[in-house]
Amino acid sequence: MTLAKKSSKSASKKTSKKLSKIASKKIVNEASSAVREPVMLQSVRGMRDILPGEQSYWQQARNVLKHEAEEYGFGRVDVPIIEFENLYRQPIGEQTEMVEREFYSFKTRGRDNVVLRPDFTPAVARTYLQHSMNMLTQPIKLFSMGTSYRYDRPAEGRYREFHQANYDIFGENDPVLDAQVIQIAYRVLQKLGIKNVQFQVNSIGTRESREQYSDLLKSYFLSKKNKLPSKYRDIIETDPLRIFDATDDKTVQVCAGAPQAIDHLDKESREHFKNLLEYLDELDLPYMINPMLNRGMEYYTRTVFEIFATDEKGLRHALGGGGRYDDLIESFGGEPTPAIGFAFGIDRLVLEMKRLKTKSYKPPRPRVYLAQLGDLAKKKSLRIFADVENAGILVAESFGRGNLKEQMEQAVKMGVEVTLIVGQKEALDSTVIVKNMHTGTQETIAREKVIDAVKSAMKQTIVVKKKPKPRKSKK
Ligand code: AMP
Repeated sequence: MTLAKKSSKSASKKTSKKLSKIASKKIVNEASSAVREPVMLQSVRGMRDILPGEQSYWQQARNVLKHEAEEYGFGRVDVPIIEFENLYRQPIGEQTEMVEREFYSFKTRGRDNVVLRPDFTPAVARTYLQHSMNMLTQPIKLFSMGTSYRYDRPAEGRYREFHQANYDIFGENDPVLDAQVIQIAYRVLQKLGIKNVQFQVNSIGTRESREQYSDLLKSYFLSKKNKLPSKYRDIIETDPLRIFDATDDKTVQVCAGAPQAIDHLDKESREHFKNLLEYLDELDLPYMINPMLNRGMEYYTRTVFEIFATDEKGLRHALGGGGRYDDLIESFGGEPTPAIGFAFGIDRLVLEMKRLKTKSYKPPRPRVYLAQLGDLAKKKSLRIFADVENAGILVAESFGRGNLKEQMEQAVKMGVEVTLIVGQKEALDSTVIVKNMHTGTQETIAREKVIDAVKSAMKQTIVVKKKPKPRKSKK
């Protein structure tokens, strides 16, 4: 027995051992399945699948979001989905609706209190400190993208698992950076073809001026208590700013007469905001000041902004938002470090793109199609496929079922330039048929010369494509 035969025999022994292990597992599973609950063939409420038909929009959105981050010098960070709960609890605000009702928090087997991130900012701030980025030349610009989780009431555009793209800048107080992040948001929307947007900006001052303002608001809302629905009466003492999010007429009317943060800013915050508005004017960015905008989470200071799109029914959808969080790093035990950031909701961007029928991502078209017939040919084709790909040529295949006729039809439909055909005979001879799809000519080539043959067939195609049309001669 040759060495090769011996080793192939022992390999097949191993394979059959593995298979019998899997089979016995199956039996055990089948035996125990009697006590198992039936599998729910439905995703969990508020969670959803993003299917292939929708992916071209997602790809387009993600590409633009990533591209802008690179253009503006942001470094990518990927942070875990799970963080310690106290990283979020205090910065967002113990008594806010998000902490009280929307957290996906639980205890691990190791008894750690953790949370599925409801947004990125505190996690990215932790990364900044944990990896001593404060020691590097500031500002530090970080880009992150992934899923966030909030136990909210699901609706169109509002999910319990949703996707965000997040831009954060640490270590710089200059309002020019506030203007820059707003500019990035604007550019992303322009590139995605989302035009009907409105930027709303406001300043909520420093933590101290915000606390003073919050006291003012409490007294105001207490004086109007009987005009407010009970759900807002209950949060006057704990979260008065949230009353501004109301949409019912009665509350909106009460809010209209409320003191405005902008009139109660400390001197520096006022100056900061004034400069920001000048930069926005300079950049010609369209915005409006919304004196009631506060963004809910307590970690915000000074600049806050939000981006809205309006649909044909006149309904507004928040596409993204952000602001300064100059105290967050210090509250985590770091040196005082000013910071600004914002997040886009990618689900919302995609909804807008679909609604506006904007251009979606077009994947690059394969130039070569690999067709095969028979088991041996399929086996050999795997290698040929890898070789063509490694040569940097985009290649399509159909290793699933399908006869040669169907595969050739698919190649024509895809508009490839070259089709490689491996039948029984070619598989045995170690050859491949190379068919030029434009000229219709084909030749049989030795397996190791395939890449050269493909390249030269593609060159011929270019010549054929570029050949000028003959002019009609006038008679
Ligand atoms: P926020 O910081 O809460 O304003 O979130 C930033 C952006 O994320 C929002 O403007 C939305 O576009 C998006 N977003 C927030 N919550 C959800 C949700 N439950 N489902 C889908 N997108 C969301």
